[in-house]
Amino acid sequence: MRVSVFGLGYVGCVSAACLASMGHEVIGVDVNQVKVDLVNDGKAPVVEERIGELIADVVRTGALRATRDVREAIEGSEVSLICVGTPSEPNGSLCTTYLERVTEQIGAALAERGGRQTVVFRSTMLPGTCLNLLVPILEKFVGGTAGVDFGVAVNPEFLREGTSVRDFFDPPKTVIGELDPASGDAVAALYEGLPGEVFRVPVPTAEAIKYADNAFHGLKIGFANELGAVCQALGVDSHQVIDVFLADRKLNISSAYLRPGFAFGGSCLPKDLRSLVHAAQRADVSVPILAHVLPSNSDHLQRAVDLVERTGKRRVGLFGLSFKPGTDDLRESPLVELAERLFGKGYDLRIYDPNVNLSRLLGANREYIETRLPHLAQLLSDSVDEVLAHAEVCLVGTRDPDVLGALPHGDGPVIVDLIRLPDADARRTEPGYVGLAW
Ligand code: NAD
Repeated sequence: MRVSVFGLGYVGCVSAACLASMGHEVIGVDVNQVKVDLVNDGKAPVVEERIGELIADVVRTGALRATRDVREAIEGSEVSLICVGTPSEPNGSLCTTYLERVTEQIGAALAERGGRQTVVFRSTMLPGTCLNLLVPILEKFVGGTAGVDFGVAVNPEFLREGTSVRDFFDPPKTVIGELDPASGDAVAALYEGLPGEVFRVPVPTAEAIKYADNAFHGLKIGFANELGAVCQALGVDSHQVIDVFLADRKLNISSAYLRPGFAFGGSCLPKDLRSLVHAAQRADVSVPILAHVLPSNSDHLQRAVDLVERTGKRRVGLFGLSFKPGTDDLRESPLVELAERLFGKGYDLRIYDPNVNLSRLLGANREYIETRLPHLAQLLSDSVDEVLAHAEVCLVGTRDPDVLGALPHGDGPVIVDLIRLPDADARRTEPGYVGLAW
């Protein structure tokens, strides 16, 4: 199929590259010239496992190209996937500005071109957004009826940053919210051959399924971390507890997200929980469990600050900064929040993250650090050894092999382990080791 993908961020560039590698003819669109140029040069605009090789391959064969020109993209495609961002507004509500803008642009281009197009929304949005906000925009611009003159579907994305290419080819499920059967057929044809069950549901149901997933993931992490904190206080190894808990398959619990560790973050879970709670409050629905997932997460982050404070030392080396290993994404990273809390308390901080390396970072992420986190940019180092030499306390939030290999044992700096290091059992008996995730 001929596909246009709007938004070349984490979701869009992975979707575009993977669809191209499945034999579709894909044209990616972004307002950001840097991302467009990177893709056309065969380079990935984000850091992700396997994405670099994949984009190089599909750009070389001509299966993927990128442009800023919406009309050119609509001209060259029969299905459009919308993957623009839907961040939080300051009051926690969902920002739909980028969605509305791109929908207007697509509507205007469709009105000029004519012919049937299926517009597929992959961005996460609250139930009702598609039918009540976006379909009316398309109908106004195109001058026709959705489901008749053009197709509309919602197809939420379940990738996890860091393993998103793997997740694309082996999805936990495929959800298609279809306005009409032909729209659903078009989306199903895109993914033909991929494993996993396909659920074809009404449009608002598809929108809601994504929130069910993300709210539950946040809840699981919060549950595991609170359990870990209580176990630690009572002198019990929480990982032993959780291993037995998870072994009980009759309860059908997957271990994903259910292991005491550090706080969660990223561009999805926090903002999706926030907008879900905001929407519930606006609808006068009481949701005390959901409303306390983010405060629980914030308390867990504070436990890490408290551990550092208890060491009584001031020179801290933070290892890891992106919101999880394998990505350079810093949006709502709990390690950024931790760095900021320590920085605000006057700690002498240096930071190393293999994926957040100022000498190698690509355009958009470099710009993000320089404009949003200039106070942390100056603390970033490209060298594990330099940060180690500085540190009286090593705060470890990454499993990067270079960091793990370099971390000293014994009488050196205090190791504050946020993630339960692979050799945590051995380290536990050493002086100067404290773990958050016991
Ligand atoms: P992102 O911020 O990384 O990328 C969005 C891109 O859209 C940016 O490159 C931006 O320049 C571009 N854009 C904005 N307006 C545009 C326009 N009018 N035309 C073309 N491009 C435009 O966002 P993301 O992390 O890829 O997330 C996208 C959506 O997918 C969000 O709704 C998010 O909640 C959801 N989602 C994200 C993940 C994830 O792991 N990141 C997973 C599942 C779902």
